Amino acid sequence: MDIEIMRDDLGDILYNLTKDKANYIWGDSITAIQETEAGAEVRFAHSKPQIFDMVIGADGLHSNVRRLTFGEEAQFKRTLGCYIAIFTTDNYLNLDHNQQFYTIPGKTVGIYSARDNTEAKGLFIFKSGTLTYDRHDAEEQKNLVNSVFGNEMGWETQHLLHAMKDAPDFYFDEICQIQMPTWSKGRVTLVGDAAYCPSPLSGQGTSLALVGAYVLAGELKAAQGDYAKASALYEQEMRTFAEKNQKVGLFAAESMVENSHFKILLRNWMLRVPFLMTVMFKMVVKMIAKAAKGITLKEYD
Ligand SMILES: Cc1cc2nc3c(=O)[nH]c(=O)nc-3n(C[C@H](O)[C@H](O)[C@H](O)COP(=O)(O)OP(=O)(O)OC[C@H]3O[C@@H](n4cnc5c(N)ncnc54)[C@H](O)[C@@H]3O)c2cc1C
Repeated sequence: MDIEIMRDDLGDILYNLTKDKANYIWGDSITAIQETEAGAEVRFAHSKPQIFDMVIGADGLHSNVRRLTFGEEAQFKRTLGCYIAIFTTDNYLNLDHNQQFYTIPGKTVGIYSARDNTEAKGLFIFKSGTLTYDRHDAEEQKNLVNSVFGNEMGWETQHLLHAMKDAPDFYFDEICQIQMPTWSKGRVTLVGDAAYCPSPLSGQGTSLALVGAYVLAGELKAAQGDYAKASALYEQEMRTFAEKNQKVGLFAAESMVENSHFKILLRNWMLRVPFLMTVMFKMVVKMIAKAAKGITLKEYD
C-alpha cells in the first residue's frame, strides 16, 4: 500500500511532537560556529550567541551549517544534469492516485494527483548545464521554465505552463545529490539532505533524513553524550544505506529524462506490452524496496 504524507503535514506532525521539548527559534539563521572549550559557540543573524554541546545541521540540500563547517557546496554537490519545477494545481485530469508523464528528448512534463486526488502537482524536468539564476526569485525561475518549454505544444504542456503561472506554490532547483567523505567535524554533524541528499527523483530523501536522525539520536544516547563516538557510529550505520538510496536517484534521473528519441520510442513501446511493462515495473519496485530496506534499525534504549 502507498501512503502519501505531504511535506507540510509531516512538518506539522514533527513540530507538534517536539514543540514542548525543543526550543524553536523562528526567522533566524546561523552566521558562525566556533568550537570553544565550553562547546560550540553559535552566532545568529538576530538572536544572541549561544553555546551548545553539539550542532546538528539538518538544514537541507543547500545547508548553511555545512557551508560554515565544511566549506562551499560546490565541492560536495554532484549534479544529475537536470532541473525540476514543481507546483500545485487542480486535479483537472481527474487522476485517481495516478501520475502521467510526457517525455520528449531532454524534457519531461508530468502531473500526479495528491492529497487523496483533491489536488495535483504539475512538474517540468529538463536537462541542462549549470544555469545562473536567483534562487529566491520565483518569477525569474518561472520565466526560465517557460523559455525551455514554451514552444512545446504536445500533451498538457501549455495547460501546465499556464497553471504554473498562478500556482499557489512553486519549487525550482537543480537536481543534485550531496556526497561527502565525512558528515561530522568536531561538535558539528549533518543529517538528511545536508549530508546525503539522494535527489528529489529518488523519492527516498525523507526516509533517509528521518532514519538518519533516529540513528544519530540513538547513538548519542548509547554513547552517553560522547559526540565523537556517536558521530562515528552514526556514520558507520548510515553510509551504505545512504549510498544505496543515492543509486535510486541516479537511476531515476537517467530514466525520467531521456535525450534519445529512439530510447523514448523503445521505452514507450515496452510500456504498451503488458508482459514487458510488468517485468519493468517489478524490477523498479524491487530496486527501490531493496534500497529502502537497506538498513536494520537498532533498538536503542
Ligand atoms: C520536488 C520534490 C519532491 C520530493 N519528493 C519526495 C518524495 O516523494 N519522497 C521523499 O522521501 N522525499 C522527497 N523529496 C525529498 C525530501 O523533501 C527531502 O529529502 C527531505 O525534505 C530532506 O529533509 P531534511 O530535513 O534533510 O531537509 P529539508 O526538508 O530541506 O529541511 C531543511 C530545513 O532547514 C531550513 N533551513 C535551510 N536553510 C536554513 C538556514 N540558513 N537557517 C535556518 N533554517 C534553514 C529550511 O527552511 C527547512 O525547514 C522531494 C523533494 C523535492 C524538492
